[in-house]
Amino acid sequence: MPVSVKMRASLGGCHISGAERIVEPRAVPSVVASLAERAMSHERGMPDFVNIKIETPRDVIRLDALPVSTVSVSSADEGWKVVDESLREAGFTRSQEIRSLFAETYSMRGAMLLDADTLERLEPDKARGVRATYMDSSDASLRSLGKNHYVEAVVLATKVLSAPGIVGEICVSDDPGYVTGYVSSRKFGYRRITVLKELGSPLGGRIFLYRGPRSEVEKTIDYLQRQAVIVDGVKPLCAKASASRFDGIAKELDETASAGLERVERTLLGRTGSRGATAPSRECCILCSNNYLDLAGDDRVVSAAAEAARAYGAGSGGSRLVTGTQPPHVALEEHLARFKGAEAAIVYPTGYMANVGIITALARRGDIIFSDELNHASIIDGCRMSGAEVVVYPHLDMKALEDRLSRCSGFRRRLVVSDGVFSMDGDVLDLPRFLGVCGRYDAFSMVDEAHSVGVMGSRGHGLSEHFGCGLPDIAMGTLSKALGSQGGYACASAQMVKYLKQKSRPYIFTTAPTAASMAAADAALSVLESEPERVEALRENAAFFVAELARHGVRAKTESAIVPVIVGDERRAVAMSAELEKRGFVISAIRYPTVPRSMARLRVALMSSHARQDLADAACAIGELMASI
Ligand code: PMP
Repeated sequence: MPVSVKMRASLGGCHISGAERIVEPRAVPSVVASLAERAMSHERGMPDFVNIKIETPRDVIRLDALPVSTVSVSSADEGWKVVDESLREAGFTRSQEIRSLFAETYSMRGAMLLDADTLERLEPDKARGVRATYMDSSDASLRSLGKNHYVEAVVLATKVLSAPGIVGEICVSDDPGYVTGYVSSRKFGYRRITVLKELGSPLGGRIFLYRGPRSEVEKTIDYLQRQAVIVDGVKPLCAKASASRFDGIAKELDETASAGLERVERTLLGRTGSRGATAPSRECCILCSNNYLDLAGDDRVVSAAAEAARAYGAGSGGSRLVTGTQPPHVALEEHLARFKGAEAAIVYPTGYMANVGIITALARRGDIIFSDELNHASIIDGCRMSGAEVVVYPHLDMKALEDRLSRCSGFRRRLVVSDGVFSMDGDVLDLPRFLGVCGRYDAFSMVDEAHSVGVMGSRGHGLSEHFGCGLPDIAMGTLSKALGSQGGYACASAQMVKYLKQKSRPYIFTTAPTAASMAAADAALSVLESEPERVEALRENAAFFVAELARHGVRAKTESAIVPVIVGDERRAVAMSAELEKRGFVISAIRYPTVPRSMARLRVALMSSHARQDLADAACAIGELMASI
């Protein structure tokens, strides 16, 4: 005959924890030990009184566990709506009133016994309530030493619903760390609701819903309080039955939104340029595009893409080293090398992949990389993926870089990498000094020219032209900004390009970029070479815009085509961007993690084709909003 073992622990007369088991007599010593351990190690504190009671019940009946379903919600409010709906589904018309009575259970030690229809309270002792005890699960593996709220709750709910006259139950645990509760009924079984109270709340309670004659109430209470029950077939919560793996996703999304960091896409209609329309169709001036020279929409560039697609197909069909190299790929690499004055070039499908591919090919464990603290995310990711030691040096601080280089020894290779024009600040690397430092310490020099090609230097050839100095070992760039297409590249020595083609995983293990994007970039390079006045127009627009901002009381500066207007607070930056859009100016709010926290900004990117009137109006609007938002 099985034996009941009950543990109750209290401190200063207050209940701390309780548990019970129904086991074979030979298991009693180990069960007592485990319950004692549980009593002594409860997070509410060490008890000053522990009572362990061993009894032989009059008889033990076996029940099948209620079927369990889970409803995932993200707040207690939502959870209680599910309780309401469930009660109605089970035929309790006064669900709202039942719910409002729930608060009265918080002060009770046991459960409220409620007539489901008249809402009369039937428990004889209103402070003590009714206790459901003498129950356990038959599955020993579920009787874990620690507290298993879920199993204990299913066992209890199964016993309660088997009591004469009991037709439903609502339960919320009083454990401050456990927010999941349930509602049960004979109609749908055990419905687990993931959130029914705020985390940290010590309030919990339960209501047993009764339907039957008053004369039977006593029998019901006796059953609940005295009948020993063993429940078979409690199904453990497995990943499938629980939606908990999604809970973390929902939580992170909520946190992102409430910190003002949610990013949303906006759809721009028509061919990309300095003016356009936001969907559904509001005319606007676009002030945050990297299409600096307006070549993405240039007829010559678009036609080159269309013709290449017609001639070579929409996709390249394979990686560069298998079937993906087509004449436009080769032609563009040669053109890029000529344009930059380098021996050779290698093209990647995106600038991001170029940075990751170059850095991971050049540096691995045993090497060391020095990286400017404000480098682009693709450089940061390349550094992380490389497995090399990474030293982040203060922004543009050549002295600090030299200092760190001078102190490192014992590494196989040294690589120093920096943005040429910093993408979120628009400031510029002092390339001659950078090359000098790298040279003194025999370190590879790599510069990301994503925002300097087409922008810096009188003919837009980039930083070497701007400073009148040599090239870094690797001049990386993108086809996606001033060159109006898509892709990334590196210009370097023939040997280095050969090495990268052998070792760069994002070059080797991905499908080659399309012939259309190669031909478009090639055509854009030709336009840039034949129309250097575009670069001058861009420079003049940037200077004009900064002067206009100053006229409206906004301090900003730039050495390139990027003008950051620092706003600080993330939500303020988003609100300003939204208001600007209403007024017809598309300017993105840039926030963490793209820039440090509390350094949110409106990042204005100028184009050679911006009309002066648009720039003046935009500066005026920014001035007004800086003062009013
Ligand atoms: N480097 C820098 C500095 C960039 O700003 C960007 C694009 N934002 C990239 C690399 C990545 O280029 P792509 O968009 O062609 O992947």
